Amino acid sequence: MNRVLLLNNENEPLRICSWKRALKLLINGKAQCAKSIQNIEDYLSIDNTQIPKVIRLNYNVAVPYKELPFCRENVFVRDEYTCQYCGKKFPASELTLDHVYPKSRFGPDIWENIVACCKECNQYKADKTPKEAGMKLLRRPFRPKDYFEYEMKKYSYSDQLYWQSRGYKTA
Ligand SMILES: [Zn+2]
Repeated sequence: MNRVLLLNNENEPLRICSWKRALKLLINGKAQCAKSIQNIEDYLSIDNTQIPKVIRLNYNVAVPYKELPFCRENVFVRDEYTCQYCGKKFPASELTLDHVYPKSRFGPDIWENIVACCKECNQYKADKTPKEAGMKLLRRPFRPKDYFEYEMKKYSYSDQLYWQSRGYKTA
């Protein structure tokens, strides 16, 4: 793993950065390594293939508010790759986006009107509302709040577990 989780001095995750950027912050004295390595000298004197996985800035930076991009992949992540009508899980290639209030009747492209849907349910629902089609949504679609949670999901499961085990807190 060559990605490093960057925390502010209150242990809130700011972003995931490259190890080169992490090293620069350490050398400039702007950040510290994880607990086992106390300072930059310790870090540089050990096996140079060992890259710290979590570093902490020495000063406070407010976690920036970021709007999660509205796109196909993020809708699938929000809905956990589960068809919101029949409740079955599918790979992304077998899912489609459904306009809860139909597009043909000017249903908007917004988080609150789009859900992950399997092709079969999508075909069955066609250009009807769920009520008209006699279908029920698993849950009401929503706009996700935690940007960082989605950012983490781009990385491997073992990286996510490692970072979580460092005890950072999400906002
Ligand atoms: Zn379905």
